[in-house]
Amino acid sequence: MSLLEIRDLTASYGVTQALHGVDLSIDAGEIVALMGRNGMGKTTTVKAICRIIASEGTLRLGGTDLHRLPSHRAARLGIGLVPEGRRCFRDLTVSENLVATARPGEWTQARVEELLPKLGQRRDQRAASLSGGEQQMLAIGRALMTNPRLLILDEATEGLAPLVRQEIWQAIAELGHSSGMAILVIDKALREMARIASRAVILERGRSVWSGRMDALDEETARRLIGV
Ligand code: ATP
Repeated sequence: MSLLEIRDLTASYGVTQALHGVDLSIDAGEIVALMGRNGMGKTTTVKAICRIIASEGTLRLGGTDLHRLPSHRAARLGIGLVPEGRRCFRDLTVSENLVATARPGEWTQARVEELLPKLGQRRDQRAASLSGGEQQMLAIGRALMTNPRLLILDEATEGLAPLVRQEIWQAIAELGHSSGMAILVIDKALREMARIASRAVILERGRSVWSGRMDALDEETARRLIGV
């Protein structure tokens, strides 16, 4: 059984249906890339998983039907979300930001700083003074501090310099290898996804229209469905 199990998921914004049937599963210790052009439903899928918006269909985490639980903050469901546009408390220090989301488990501040050394170096600085890349690392650190079973990164490297992007992807790949966490990454960078993810699911107009091993994704399909 997969840690995250999604079948025939649908969701709407008012009268506008945004998801028409998404199938997606992730095993513990696996990295899966969710891809597709702009507006195809990637972020909506994430919102449905985190129960930020209502959805219908099968949505299970570790065998538990998330639809049957009252909509909680994602962390309580065991989901660590790194949302689009990195959200941290700007006036708090890096340390304070990390401690603020901490829940008991193996991910402590020390372990987060081991994975993302820059956060250790900047421990006492205000989040507002960090570079874009460092703020993104802090957002990842904050998600890890919740000790999630599922980590979701929504456009985690958008707008960052190539070197910083590399650093972040490297850390995510390490995470995938060293922890039993299931990781869902949303990004348009196909080459980087191919390096870190084992499988991809591609959405088109709110439906999962392709899924398979990353190395089975041919150029023609990628061009047509992702636009690269
Ligand atoms: P992007 O890469 O641009 O973030 P996406 O694949 O994440 O795209 P979504 O943001 O999930 O796409 O959007 C899916 C569809 O739902 C789009 O047609 C979008 O216009 C619509 N949509 C998204 N958010 C809302 C909202 N708050 N209210 C109404 N419609 C929305």
